[in-house]
Amino acid sequence: SPKAALIDGKAFAAQVRGQVKSGAEAFSAVEGRRPGLAVVLVGSDAASQVYVRTKVRQAAEAGIESFAHLLDVTTTQAQLLALIDALNADDSVDGILVQLPLPAGLDESAVIEAIDPAKDVDGFHPVNVGRLSAGQPSLVPCTPLGCLLLLQDRLGDLSGLKAVVVGRSNIVGKPMGQLLLNANCTVTTVHSRSRDLAAECRQADILVVAVGRPGMITADHIKPGATVLDVGINRLQDEAGNGRLVGDVDFAAASAVAGALTPVPGGIGPMTVACLLRNTLTAAQLRRA
Ligand code: NDP
Repeated sequence: SPKAALIDGKAFAAQVRGQVKSGAEAFSAVEGRRPGLAVVLVGSDAASQVYVRTKVRQAAEAGIESFAHLLDVTTTQAQLLALIDALNADDSVDGILVQLPLPAGLDESAVIEAIDPAKDVDGFHPVNVGRLSAGQPSLVPCTPLGCLLLLQDRLGDLSGLKAVVVGRSNIVGKPMGQLLLNANCTVTTVHSRSRDLAAECRQADILVVAVGRPGMITADHIKPGATVLDVGINRLQDEAGNGRLVGDVDFAAASAVAGALTPVPGGIGPMTVACLLRNTLTAAQLRRA
C-alpha cells in the first residue's frame, strides 16, 4: 500500500521558473536587455536535441534570451574553442552551456575549461567545482541544485540529517554530496565499489540516487519515512515496443516505505532545466554587480 508523498518536481520547477521570470524582468528593466543564455550543440544526438529545444523554449518563457549554436558533427576542437572565446567576449551572453556528451574526437575537459567561470551555468568548470568544494559562492551544477531546492522546500533546514548519495559522477553525485555537506547534513557517498550498499542506504533520512540502473533501489534500501530523490533516467521498451522512462528506484516498492518520493518522469528532470535558467539569471546579476 503506497504511503509515500509524491514530490511534484514538475510543479515546483514551474514555481522556480516563475521566480526566474520575475528576476529576469527586473534585470531587463535596469539593463535594457534580457539575461542571455548561449546553448551549444555539436552533432545530432536525438536526446541532446530534445534537451536543447526544451532549454531554449523554457528560457524564452522565463524572459531569458537564448542563442542556439547548432554545429555540424564535423566541427573541430579549434572551431569549438573559437566559438567559446567569442561567447566569453560577448556582453549579451551571461551563460554558456555546451550540451554533453560531445562527439568522439572533441575534448570535453578542454572545452569546459575554456568557458569563462563567470558564465559557466552548468557549474562544471574546475574553478566552480573548487569553489563549491570550499563552500564559496559559485555556479552549482543544475541537477544537484534542483535536488537541494526540492529537499529544502520539503524539509526546511537539513542540518544534522543523514544523507546518502548513490553515484559519484562529476555532474550529479559528487556535487550533490558537497551541497548536502554545505547544508550541514552528515553525508555518505556510495558507488559501484561500496560494500553493503543497501545497509548504507537504510541509514539515510535523505536518499539521492543517480546511477542509471532501472529499479536498483528497492524497499530494502529505504529507511521508513525517508525522503527519496530519484535522479535516474532510463529508457525502457515494453512488450509492444513502446518506450517509457523509469528511474533508478523501484517506484511501487519504494512508495510503501519512503516518506516522500520523486516520480520519473516529472521529478528531478524538470528541476534541472529550471535550475539552468536560475543559474543564468544568477550569472547575469553577478556579472552586472
Ligand atoms: P554516470 O554513469 O556518470 O555515474 C553513475 C554512477 O553510478 C557512478 O558513480 C557509478 O559508480 C555508480 N554505479 C554504477 N553502477 C552501480 C552499482 N551497481 N551500485 C552502485 N553504484 C553504481 O551517471 P550520471 O551521474 O551522469 O547519471 C546518473 C543517472 O542520472 C543516469 O540515469 C542519467 O541519465 C540520470 N541523469 C538525470 C538528470 C536529470 O536531469 N534528471 C541529469 C543527469 C543525469 P562508479 O563511479 O564506481 O563507476
